[in-house]
Amino acid sequence: MNDLQEFRELGISEELLPALAAKNFQTPSAIQKLAIPLLLSGEKDLIGQALTGTGKTAAFGLPVIQTLEPGRIPRALILAPTRELSIQISDELNSLCGTKPLKIAPFFGGQLITIQLDELKRGVDIAVGTPGRIMDLHRRGKLQLDQLQFAILDEADEMLDMGFIDDIREILALTNPDKRMLMFSATMPQEIMDIAAEFMRPEYEIARTGTQSATNTALTEQYFHEVKREHKLDALMRLIDANNELYAMVFCRTRADVDEVTEKLHAKGYRVEALHGEISQAQRLRVINAFKKRKFPLLIATDVAARGIDVNDLTHVINYSLPQNSDIYIHRIGRTGRAGRHGVAVSFVTPGERRKLKFIEKDIGSTIPQRKLPEIADIIEAKKQLFAENIALLLETGDAEPYLNFAEELCTLGSHPAEAMAAMLKMHFKNELLPESYHEFGTKVKADESSMKKLLLFAGRADGVTVPELLRMICDRTGIRSNQLGKIICRADKTFINAAPADAEKILKTFAKDKEWKFKYDEPREQRGQRAPEERGQSAKKEKRAPGRKKVKTHKPLREEFFKWISDSE
Ligand code: ADP
Ligand code: MG
Repeated sequence: MNDLQEFRELGISEELLPALAAKNFQTPSAIQKLAIPLLLSGEKDLIGQALTGTGKTAAFGLPVIQTLEPGRIPRALILAPTRELSIQISDELNSLCGTKPLKIAPFFGGQLITIQLDELKRGVDIAVGTPGRIMDLHRRGKLQLDQLQFAILDEADEMLDMGFIDDIREILALTNPDKRMLMFSATMPQEIMDIAAEFMRPEYEIARTGTQSATNTALTEQYFHEVKREHKLDALMRLIDANNELYAMVFCRTRADVDEVTEKLHAKGYRVEALHGEISQAQRLRVINAFKKRKFPLLIATDVAARGIDVNDLTHVINYSLPQNSDIYIHRIGRTGRAGRHGVAVSFVTPGERRKLKFIEKDIGSTIPQRKLPEIADIIEAKKQLFAENIALLLETGDAEPYLNFAEELCTLGSHPAEAMAAMLKMHFKNELLPESYHEFGTKVKADESSMKKLLLFAGRADGVTVPELLRMICDRTGIRSNQLGKIICRADKTFINAAPADAEKILKTFAKDKEWKFKYDEPREQRGQRAPEERGQSAKKEKRAPGRKKVKTHKPLREEFFKWISDSE
């Protein structure tokens, strides 16, 4: 039993339902679910991408049939690569018409042109044909192309493969500019995007389902971050901070989520706006228009509110919450990676949502790899880069010249001009560019201890050394991130620090001229003989708890006189 309810919900009229029943269509395919509502309710041009055999013909055919009223002059032109496909499409559309008296006919080379001329004379609503024959009929003045409501390139990738690009250009140039242009294709090579850029109105939409080859996803890079619910906001801020050129939509499940994310980001000084159903229509339009003009870089929205907003060139689509199904996922991410531009679709997936993600992956026919969140170092680097770019811009425009005298004065304050610059940076950024002003939230990269070098500091707990303080001091001075360092073993009289070879070098170099803090490489174990075993693998904490050891007070302040240094000869 099937009452074709799902087709009805997409907007298919009662008039066409018997034809679907006759064809034994039961539920719409994924591409039909995406494309039919867009075509029935919108006005925008559309690219539809779905695997071969997924019903692309009906995806555009049903809305076209439903929209057109019978007439005599073609209101829809469908270009197809071959004679066989032209016939097949024409047949399929005829069978979808049911009782609606539309005239649909194929035009292709190899058939007597007089038959086709007669057909045109009697009147055709939808002309389906190969580019060569369509051109021919038009040149003879028998096929009018200036009354079109729809111009459709079906199997567009194949047509391009077959070298029809020039014919297609020529035909499209002859059509009336106010038509809707649609392209359907199994793959989405660059040439299709080029045609879209050339012939489609700029706000065209993309309906895209499962992919056929890697080239399809070439324009939209998809990946996910595993993020606990309570860390999502931090994760979002990291993404924002790490991407200077961000122009993105963030999708949340509920209105409340949208409000919460928006408020919290506002509180942190981010320029974002919210879009959901409770916001007045007037305000919504204001927000959408401002976003399209890039007045602010981040729009937080629910799916429903975002429906119909077509922004072509998002750099990122961020799924703050995974959507309920793959159709929504595809619809969301279809807003990036368009018009030949590279786009990124990032999803936040909680540990409990892995199965849901698998389900979506299966549905869209491609895997979505996991990525690490941007590191704090990446964020700082991005901020530095942006700052440097802005300075370069000011130097170019000369707008900073009025400050030259004052700058020279300031430069004399330190022993080197860079010192004055550093002080200004500190005033401008406060601690924003210092790694320790960021907190970690479960994204710690497991440091690879096996390849690490061990450094020795001849001062320990008895001297007031504590692991957190030591860590902060090293990170402060070297710029090494705390999670980059390996184990720190703080013993009563000395401390061992594990660090990647490059970091170890950095620590040694940074402290080389320091009178108080001197580090040296710990000698290889064999050379140290007896002392080796006790120094391995014991964390300070663990050691502290070891029975029979006298507890050493560690709360003495760090003071330089507490440190003794190993001479290089030791
Ligand atoms: P594509 O253009 O994606 O290669 P077609 O439009 O040629 O796919 O459709 C492939 C086959 O699937 C056709 O026989 C068509 O009648 C059938 N078909 C299309 N949509 C549906 C549907 N919703 N349910 C069942 N069969 C369908
Ligand atoms: Mg097809």
